[in-house]
Amino acid sequence: MSTINLIRPLFSSFRRSTITLSSKYSTGSKTVDNDPVVDIENPFEKEKPQCILCKTKIVPNYKNVQLLSQFQSPYTGRIYGKHITGLCKYQQEKVEKEIVKAQNAGLMASYLKDPQFFKDPKLFDPDKPLRPHRFE
Ligand SMILES: [Zn+2]
Repeated sequence: MSTINLIRPLFSSFRRSTITLSSKYSTGSKTVDNDPVVDIENPFEKEKPQCILCKTKIVPNYKNVQLLSQFQSPYTGRIYGKHITGLCKYQQEKVEKEIVKAQNAGLMASYLKDPQFFKDPKLFDPDKPLRPHRFE
């Protein structure tokens, strides 16, 4: 008698526990199956570095002398290099091409910067190049 009394509550509690476990498991698996798969953008993705002309979507043109003169040294009229202007290769080549075009058209000086553009905002600091020059 005593052994049966001992086993019964144990057995019943075991059964109860298995039922609750199985029900929990089934609901758990159901919720996992019903979870919709959502594609979200990577919140930790870094912003692609872009040059100032690509970022602002400005296309350099030989008629826009004021913009082109911002890439010209006020002392020598020389076009600043890519390591100073921070432009990408494509935009730097385009700026250089348009400056030569403007100079050939007589719109822009070759050996000096037009003094009326001296007070224009500076896009970069020639004394602090963004990248070291390849010959330095
Ligand atoms: Zn660019």
